[in-house]
Amino acid sequence: MNMKEYIDEAESALLHTYNRYQIVWDRGDGMYMYDIEGKKYLDFVAGIAVFALGYNNKAYNDALKAQIDKVIHTSNYYYNIPAIEAAKKLKSISGMDRVFFTNSGAEAIEGALKAARKYAFLRDGHTDHEIIAMNRSFHGRTMGALSVTGNAHYREAFEPLIGNIRFADFNDFESVKEQVTDKTCAIIFETVQGEGGIYPATEEFLKNVRSLCDEKDILLILDEIQCGMGRTGYMYAWQKYGIKPDIMASAKAIGCGVPVGAFMMTERVAGRSLTSGDHGTTYGGNPLACAAISKVIDLFEELDVLNNVRETGAYMYKRLEELAARHDCITAHRGAGLMQGLECSVPVGEIINRAVERGLLLINAGTSIIRFIPPLIASKQDVDNMVKILDDCF
Ligand SMILES: *Cc1c(COP(=O)(O)O)cnc(C)c1O
Repeated sequence: MNMKEYIDEAESALLHTYNRYQIVWDRGDGMYMYDIEGKKYLDFVAGIAVFALGYNNKAYNDALKAQIDKVIHTSNYYYNIPAIEAAKKLKSISGMDRVFFTNSGAEAIEGALKAARKYAFLRDGHTDHEIIAMNRSFHGRTMGALSVTGNAHYREAFEPLIGNIRFADFNDFESVKEQVTDKTCAIIFETVQGEGGIYPATEEFLKNVRSLCDEKDILLILDEIQCGMGRTGYMYAWQKYGIKPDIMASAKAIGCGVPVGAFMMTERVAGRSLTSGDHGTTYGGNPLACAAISKVIDLFEELDVLNNVRETGAYMYKRLEELAARHDCITAHRGAGLMQGLECSVPVGEIINRAVERGLLLINAGTSIIRFIPPLIASKQDVDNMVKILDDCF
């Protein structure tokens, strides 16, 4: 079958929840993806901030193949070595104390919200606790995650969602304080807002919210699903600021393509929230997924990924600043490490389409922002190649 025939088949079988690019993928290698007609694309999307190590990393592939030949699923009624190792390594890179493995980011958010409610319930026996979330946030598509997602367009048709959620403005501490009541049990936000348009939290905002939480025994939940796992040049974006969340969610790049996520918490919270029977999952923490996490974390160290993100990220920042100076329709440039965005005064869909035609993959965040979230192994040469094509598209 040719590309068109595959696409027609897809459109007659899949539920139409995405407007997809007219591309059918064959394979990936390093920073490049290849479609089934052999056309090559430089990839600054990485499967939405997932493929941190680039495609077809041999050590990663070998680790997964070796695990497949042993066992890929055991259930959570037993222990398995890949899960033990992955949990130990996640603790070490995050500084958190306890890990619960999930199958996706949204599921990690669900667990984090449940942990926060249980913590408050054990403290005062009430069942009317409130959670403060941010406008412009994105936490996933399941009912609980959607409830704390500050985008009316994603939520409206699915109301009523879970109750007692209040929204504040990101990076506006006063607006957060206004939403606090004696029922508040948690405040949740992304350390760097992703889908909402690449807005990093300011140091002042993070520190003020942290102090407020300490003062009132409110749990701080940070969503590091997109901005975590090295993307900003720190394993987790909050590590730059000298604060620590009580609960955090991680996913996307931790498995580099194997569907996996995790929520993690401090010992203090773990000792007073979810306990046996409160939460579970059939697949979460299965040996195949955990072998992936474990190998990804090892490879981050071996390949010195954080250093590369800092260097290439700073270089990309400079190159995008130059691009912004050349084109009037670019109105803002934000981000950290290899997570950056260009805001434009024109809809960016057309620009991204032109890039795709020229063999460069980019994605938007909303209608006016181009998002740059390449594999974390991107080099300065890759950035130069990207900027050259994008310049043309503008
Ligand atoms: C992608 C994303 C999610 C949802 O993760 P899924 O694996 O798609 O469920 C949640 N929060 C943020 C910040 C994300 O970028």
